[in-house]
Amino acid sequence: MAVFYHVVDGDPLDNGSNSQVIEGLRDCTIEGHDGGFRNQAFIGHRAYCGVCKSAGPIVGGPGTPGYSLRLYDATIRAHEAVEGDVVVCKCDRSARIIAVYGRSSYIHDMSGSAVSTANASLTNEAMNAHDQQFRLLDTNGKPRSNVRYKIVGDSGATTSGVTDMQGRTIRVTTSAVENLHLYLVS
Ligand SMILES: [Zn+2]
Repeated sequence: MAVFYHVVDGDPLDNGSNSQVIEGLRDCTIEGHDGGFRNQAFIGHRAYCGVCKSAGPIVGGPGTPGYSLRLYDATIRAHEAVEGDVVVCKCDRSARIIAVYGRSSYIHDMSGSAVSTANASLTNEAMNAHDQQFRLLDTNGKPRSNVRYKIVGDSGATTSGVTDMQGRTIRVTTSAVENLHLYLVS
């Protein structure tokens, strides 16, 4: 099982030189380990390359999950970006994105089975720093309601339930910063 972390505005590229993602989806944020909320980046969003000093779009990188596993946003008609996606700048060698700030959110690629996690908690829903909610969307961006899920924290604490009409899980509050893993139960 491979894990691919989501990408946010400000994540660096692997060629140094201050290269970084410079765009993200408004109103779709992921909380970083530093407590900051950054906008999640999608395919087509731009990153700045400090080597050739130009900006280019993010495209799917080799070895990363197919689009069937990636959250699709209907408003910008694009799939989310993940660690390992590449930036098409003027360099001969495309730089890869390193996920640094969005690591509380990721895709579990369970060898082909269509299990994806999508953390689309909105900024204005963030009640406190240790409080997370997931929202499940299908590939057309429609909420997936009535899906049975299980949320497991790093500490082992488990919460289960069924997504509501908007595809939302319940909000999980933890006493410390910890990664929450969402599993769909079939
Ligand atoms: Zn470049």
